[in-house]
Amino acid sequence: MPLVIDTILESSFEQRRRRLALPAPQADAIELRLDASDSPQSELTELSELLSTSRKPVILTCRSRLSGGRFTGAPSEKMRVLEQGSRLGNSTQGVQYVDCEEHDPAPALARHVRLIRSLHDFDGVPADLDQRARAMIERGADIIKVACQASTLAEVIHLLELTKRLGHPCVAIAMGELGAFGRIIAGALGMPLTYGTGGSEAAAPGQLSVHELVELYHANELGPSDPVFALIGHPVAHSLSPHIHNRALKVLGARGTYVTIDCANLTDLPLLEQLPIAGFSVTLPHKTAVLARAAELEPRVAALGAANTLYRRQDRLVAANTDYDGFLSALREVEPRLEGVATLVIGAGGAARAVVKALRDAGAEVTITNRSERRAEQLAQELGAKTIPLMQIRSLNAGVVVQATSCGMTPNDDRSPVPADLLRPGQVAFDLVYNPARTRFLREAEARGARTISGLRMLAGQAQGQLERFSNRTLPSDVLLDLTLAAAAERGIS
Ligand code: NAP
Repeated sequence: MPLVIDTILESSFEQRRRRLALPAPQADAIELRLDASDSPQSELTELSELLSTSRKPVILTCRSRLSGGRFTGAPSEKMRVLEQGSRLGNSTQGVQYVDCEEHDPAPALARHVRLIRSLHDFDGVPADLDQRARAMIERGADIIKVACQASTLAEVIHLLELTKRLGHPCVAIAMGELGAFGRIIAGALGMPLTYGTGGSEAAAPGQLSVHELVELYHANELGPSDPVFALIGHPVAHSLSPHIHNRALKVLGARGTYVTIDCANLTDLPLLEQLPIAGFSVTLPHKTAVLARAAELEPRVAALGAANTLYRRQDRLVAANTDYDGFLSALREVEPRLEGVATLVIGAGGAARAVVKALRDAGAEVTITNRSERRAEQLAQELGAKTIPLMQIRSLNAGVVVQATSCGMTPNDDRSPVPADLLRPGQVAFDLVYNPARTRFLREAEARGARTISGLRMLAGQAQGQLERFSNRTLPSDVLLDLTLAAAAERGIS
């Protein structure tokens, strides 16, 4: 399991002293960047005063300009300070690690202090990465640290697999948003440390707070045999799924973490499969294309033509669609009897397809309306439904109306695809959109006396189906709904 490091980047001596005295409570150790100080040279003379305030083990580092730092003194001066600094502590307190640079000579450190040797590349992943990493080991290092800017998922994965290739304790950081998930799953990849930030200084792109790493992702508890689950799609940065799944794993007492991976191109899936990822949630734009990537389809997935889940069964990827069950279970809580009930589905995209199939399988009569009528007709023909033009939907006396378009989603929350007077008292109005939770469609339906269902209920239901497939464990649906509502509230979704 990795130590979680709180990096101190504040620049004034006072701020730094305060941060050393009060680091992020969840951090295991602090990285003190001497070169981040306003006056690194003068701070060196006060190092012992600064360190005396520290409540946690310290990693001492001083980066030159070439490595992205601000130290401008002579290399020999830097080494002298690091060597002296290494003596400011004992085996339980003070400096426990010294981090020097790729080509620095091996410093003479206090016996209890371990040496990290780092390579930084802010332009990309060097072609000779492995060779340089091996040379660092030969130069002497307890831990190798490599931090490179990664601009493709292939580069991120190449970097993250360095630990496996080297067979030596190694921390690989793919700098940038794309590689942020690597900082979370560091422990699952066998890395001994992971870096976050606990201070007020602006974090670099892709850097997470120590609080998020520990409280949300349980990064500090992850070891090489723990499962990692990932949402893949594009974009995924604002997804609620990590906030739901990680809470659910915690309630279950299950190990592992759930991350998001921005994967714009599904051809990267085989690369992702090289990482220890036990299951994938799949979102737009890959819900259809992912079928061709699965070794096996659960019953009904082929008819739906879309999947939102890939899980491993004897190392084969199986595709499942938990939107179907998530929708049906949320609807049945309000309207248990669907046999013969007239329903109107607004929309003809991927989500509407799961909704129409679920309603048809439950014996409901389904009429589809959609902005593009041709798309509605195609879907209706395939799944045994009827169609109606948008202009005529008031004439339909439906018991259940499902809003399955993306219209009304934040930031367009003032929109609804249908007129305000569509619904009547007693009818059921279900909006698949969950951000906002109370869409304009639902607000107008409620005002007309309809019974409403928020997309958050379906989100909870589809997450429950994924959790079962990922972990072979189950949580009661009301618990998952509570977790989903709490996650939404925390993210300001109401
Ligand atoms: P999709 O495949 O891209 O389909 C989008 C649908 O929305 C199409 O029918 C499209 O009509 C319609 N549409 C888009 N903008 C519109 C507008 N301004 N006015 C009228 N219709 C408009 O997307 P999807 O996967 O079906 O997802 C649809 C919604 O369901 C999304 O908001 C998604 O977040 C939500 N969803 C929720 C859950 C959940 O768990 N709650 C699960 C899955 C999906 P055209 O065909 O005319 O373009």
